[in-house]
Amino acid sequence: MTSIKDSEMTGAEAGQAEVDVAIVGAGLAGTTLATLLARAGRKVALIDPHQTHPDEFRAEKIGTGQGRLFEKLGLNSIVLPLLTPMDDIHVFRLGQLFSRDRRVEYGFSYGALINGLRAALPPQVPVTVGKVAEITTGPDKQRLVLNTGAIIEARLLVVATGHSEAVRRAIGVRRVEISKAHSLSIGFDLAVSPSECTYQTVTCFARRPEDRIAYISVFPIKGTMRANMFGYRQAGEAWTKAFRQDPQKMLCEMMPEIAAQCGNFKISGPVEIRPIDLTRTEGHRRDGVVFIGDAFCTTCPTPGVGIARVMTDVDQLHSVHIPRWFETPGMAADKISAFYDDPVKAATDEDGMRASQYARAITIGTGLEWRVRRLRNNTARQLMIIGRKMRNFGQRPATVAEMQ
Ligand SMILES: Cc1cc2nc3c(=O)[nH]c(=O)nc-3n(C[C@H](O)[C@H](O)[C@H](O)COP(=O)(O)OP(=O)(O)OC[C@H]3O[C@@H](n4cnc5c(N)ncnc54)[C@H](O)[C@@H]3O)c2cc1C
Repeated sequence: MTSIKDSEMTGAEAGQAEVDVAIVGAGLAGTTLATLLARAGRKVALIDPHQTHPDEFRAEKIGTGQGRLFEKLGLNSIVLPLLTPMDDIHVFRLGQLFSRDRRVEYGFSYGALINGLRAALPPQVPVTVGKVAEITTGPDKQRLVLNTGAIIEARLLVVATGHSEAVRRAIGVRRVEISKAHSLSIGFDLAVSPSECTYQTVTCFARRPEDRIAYISVFPIKGTMRANMFGYRQAGEAWTKAFRQDPQKMLCEMMPEIAAQCGNFKISGPVEIRPIDLTRTEGHRRDGVVFIGDAFCTTCPTPGVGIARVMTDVDQLHSVHIPRWFETPGMAADKISAFYDDPVKAATDEDGMRASQYARAITIGTGLEWRVRRLRNNTARQLMIIGRKMRNFGQRPATVAEMQ
């Protein structure tokens, strides 16, 4: 048996439940898995310390591929009303308009997405509000005691607690840092409204490697223009402090090519800055318990691979592994290992990790290989821009909208 501090009773009604699957953590992974398992007729308990997910800065934009994952899982009717679609993305590179992508992407506020998913949970799976105070895991039965005094017994325990360490640590798994302080994600609202902004959506890559910034993405979430900027800076360094003090000035200097069209980067509301570590888990092959989403590994937001990783875990677990595991008695580690060895899951995790490392190296890598790659990529892009200008030579100077 493992105990977690803070086992004090809250006064909430203490009960006892026996379920097929107990899911700890009602974030994206936990809530979507609970929905799918309940739809498939499984008895599920979903536990989280908060009734309402806080409106914290996490993923705020997904592309077409990630959108299709929600569709594949039959979650579109829940998720689509929570998303702001966009399909006209102006991409700036080397200080100039490089392309105009007409693919569909979606903006959203993470808290609103999770709370929307929770509100749509099947009625037989309410969020059980509480903290896990004791955990006992084994090859046949898992037992959770919450700080409310409630006891939940399950055949399978799913840990979906994101970055949080308490439950992971209590079970005895370790987070291994692959790249500490790998990147910095910065999020803020622009004072300009979507109708006042020249672009529906704009992605602008930094011109100079010495800025240590990959790109900024400016996009609508409902009636607000939101900006996400991803870079390779430390949270405590002078640049970050200066950015907090005067983000408008630094953005106008760094990305003058889009400043005027983005309301001169006048910002409303707080600037949220999150350091990101790349991590994986060790010691997770255990009886009775499986780790998914960010509770299993964390990647970097710059290439936008987190949501695909989380949703692939959910998909493989609910459609392939859990049905198989429940066909026979017991829930020993060798059964559970099939999930970690699943080629689809493993490839998605590896791709996410590789993309996270690549995005950093191609932006700021100082070795010869990365300098040469940057030079090659930028030369090819510059030639494409010159080619387009030559095709348009002699014509009246085009407006941004006409350039495509
Ligand atoms: C700043 C930032 C920007 C990002 N941008 C992108 C992006 O643009 N694109 C992309 O694809 N990915 C992005 N990501 C990654 C993406 O947000 C995550 O991969 C994804 O949200 C993880 O989902 P999850 O369900 O594993 O964890 P979460 O959604 O964090 O859920 C964890 C849940 O566990 C609960 N919990 C915690 N402790 C306990 C406990 N002791 N007991 C019970 N419950 C507990 C929490 O309350 C929470 O509800 C970003 C991440 C960050 C930090």
